[in-house]
Amino acid sequence: MKGVKPGDAGVSRSLAQKKEALLEEIKQEVEGCTLCPLSKNRTRAVFGEGDPDALIMFIGEAPGEDEDRLGRPFVGKAGQLLTKILLSVSIKREEVYIANMVKCRPPGNRTPTLEEIETCFPYLEAQIAIVNPSVIVTLGSISTGYLLGTKEPMSKLRGQWFDWRGGKRIFPMFHPSFLLRHESRAPGSPKYLTWLDIQEVKRVYDLLRRDMGRI
Ligand code: URA
Repeated sequence: MKGVKPGDAGVSRSLAQKKEALLEEIKQEVEGCTLCPLSKNRTRAVFGEGDPDALIMFIGEAPGEDEDRLGRPFVGKAGQLLTKILLSVSIKREEVYIANMVKCRPPGNRTPTLEEIETCFPYLEAQIAIVNPSVIVTLGSISTGYLLGTKEPMSKLRGQWFDWRGGKRIFPMFHPSFLLRHESRAPGSPKYLTWLDIQEVKRVYDLLRRDMGRI
């Protein structure tokens, strides 16, 4: 199209609308999914939400009780903390995309099994392909370990950049549920390190936004 630049408001809007429609199609599929036993006990599947054209995607583990009831990711206590962490660097939830490794709540909030994660993964892969974020922030060991293919502890992985599938970068952070279990804000504590980590995310986010003409 003559004279059209990637940052142009009209182009971005129509791209976002197309992405939204594609995400909606997969959401419908997820809501009817019976591929693994987790589907039997769910109240609602939790697909994911946020800007379909987000530059950053946050990936957690699995829905908890509140998420299962409301059909939205990260809306319980851990989710409220995630929202606060984002706001501490002036990032609104609506401007990023938030999803989980598995879309249905594991009974009693147990960790999803590898088989459950693998069965559900094509849905997340589709979300990543459609949203096409430059940065993926993995929250906790389940999403970090699976996407990076490592068993290294979060204490070693967090706060570092990893190349992923040529072109994207993964930045692991502690899971907000883990932070809720560790009150201290002293230097070196998980909360303190998360404060450093989110500032690094914000630094890179601002660079990306500037590059893409979004600020
Ligand atoms: N924990 C997660 O990993 N995801 C949610 O959506 C809520 C809590």
